[in-house]
Amino acid sequence: FVNGQPFDACPRQVLKRAVERLADRRWTLKVGIEPEFFLLKALQGGWAPADDADRLAKPSYDLKSLARQLPFLLQLQDTLERCGLDVLQLDHEDAHGQYEVNFAFAHVLSSADHLMLFKLAAQAIAERHGMVFSMMPKPFADQPGSGMHCHVSLWEGRNDNARNVFVPHRADGALDTEQTLSPLGRQFVAGVLAHAGALTALAAPTVNSYKRLTVGESISGTTWAPAYVAHGPNNRTALVRTLHGRFEWRAPDASANPYLMLAGMIAAGLDGIERGLDPGPDCDEDLFVLSLAQIAERGIALLPQNLAEAVDALECDATVCGALGDTLAREFIALKREEHTAYARHVSDWELQRYATTF
Ligand code: GLU
Ligand code: MG
Repeated sequence: FVNGQPFDACPRQVLKRAVERLADRRWTLKVGIEPEFFLLKALQGGWAPADDADRLAKPSYDLKSLARQLPFLLQLQDTLERCGLDVLQLDHEDAHGQYEVNFAFAHVLSSADHLMLFKLAAQAIAERHGMVFSMMPKPFADQPGSGMHCHVSLWEGRNDNARNVFVPHRADGALDTEQTLSPLGRQFVAGVLAHAGALTALAAPTVNSYKRLTVGESISGTTWAPAYVAHGPNNRTALVRTLHGRFEWRAPDASANPYLMLAGMIAAGLDGIERGLDPGPDCDEDLFVLSLAQIAERGIALLPQNLAEAVDALECDATVCGALGDTLAREFIALKREEHTAYARHVSDWELQRYATTF
């Protein structure tokens, strides 16, 4: 607030405005946010997983490494539960030193608040355990990065009487178990796909984000960070994975501001509903094994492959910029362009190794 008035460029106010647009239609959006993160230690000239013994070739759900970090994880769980969060799951993810903590889905604004609380708590508790908590999207080139997937459902009515309007029904009123989403849900998803480029600037807002969202094979064989603008039932290789009565938006990474990315996603979904967009056919293929030519044949677009492309897409997208408001959209675009330029001017070790003696 400034002088008692809501500050229009405050990310939390931006999300509140998006929530009001939904409320005008008697809707509320519920979201579950899934943060992945690393526990690291700083070395001279580099970073490494805090746990030296965390070295499995396939570290997904590594129970032994998980057990070694239980003092941290259980203290984090206890802290979050005392703050009113319902912690559902702790697991070791698919990179060395990488974990995921899941808490119950909630109203979109509460979920974003919960994520901020989680980050503050995890950072402080990791420090007490002599470790560094990192939500950098991709700290290690040869390991998967950290996503922050969002599970999304739209509800009509209040409290106990609220009804999930993404749940599909047949013409006779019975539950439709063949489809994942109602026509309204499909329109919302179509909006998220139509604005995928601009949303990427909010959901993957650092130069490092694009080391996670690259085209090509899955880096570990069991992890997929989406590079392809497609949707499909339980398809983790697509930008949008649909489930019965909800969808998972898989683009966001751990560096995203939850208020901004969710406000943008709401504006995109509402645009899909207002324009009655169609998301196209379900995709049930593993997009990571297809060539780029095969992806193009199917009419599937790529997400921006670097921050500059994503920011260009944002600048051209009046719907998503409108959700941010003039001041924030202008400042965000300028700041992110500057970040990309600073990065583009940097000369890395990789370049020196590859070129210094080549020519
Ligand atoms: N770490 C992956 C990502 O960056 C996701 C792994 C998972 O599906 O849980 O999106
Ligand atoms: Mg995960």
